[in-house]
Amino acid sequence: MSMRIGLGFDSHAFKPGVPLVIGGLKIDHPEGLAGHSDGDLLLHAITDALLGAVSAGDIGTFFPPSDPKWKGADSTVFLQTALEEIALAGYKIVNIDCVLIMHRPKIVPIAADMRERVADLLSLDLKNVSIKAKTPEGLNHDGTAVAHVVALLESIDLPEEHKKLTAEADVPDEADIDGVFTTLISKTHDITALGRKPAFDTDDLT
Ligand SMILES: [Zn+2]
Repeated sequence: MSMRIGLGFDSHAFKPGVPLVIGGLKIDHPEGLAGHSDGDLLLHAITDALLGAVSAGDIGTFFPPSDPKWKGADSTVFLQTALEEIALAGYKIVNIDCVLIMHRPKIVPIAADMRERVADLLSLDLKNVSIKAKTPEGLNHDGTAVAHVVALLESIDLPEEHKKLTAEADVPDEADIDGVFTTLISKTHDITALGRKPAFDTDDLT
């Protein structure tokens, strides 16, 4: 088994009159986060941590802010792509640890709901998702929300997973299962074999 680690960071400025979405959770607050997409900084940072862990570039590699297609986009789409990339590289998430830094709104009262939503989006047990909140003391960050995320991944044990998929898959014979399986998981775990080459465009969806 091999392990990989990824680090994600994001920040967005608060903006009156737009919906606030953090961690895929809609939050009742007079200000939202400005961004080309829905401004969900937590999902953006998680996406970058996952892509970074398999050296697949970053969110801007896949969803350039110059593309009008992503205007107002639901950030769960970005997260889904990152999940596909790590599966393609032959990895799965062990756990993630997140820090949100903002003055308002207070995260503590909504932290449990947010954690549940993120765990659901990542198909992880709740115990493998940590979300902590801090206020930006002394940083002069009153109008900005910041997120830091670390994600730990482990390689998928192919023989074991193959057996499990074989047992669960509703396909007629083993040859078909191999085909399905190959599309899901890289046999070699060679992350350089990924079809999409990252351009290392570091633009964010701001
Ligand atoms: Zn962002």
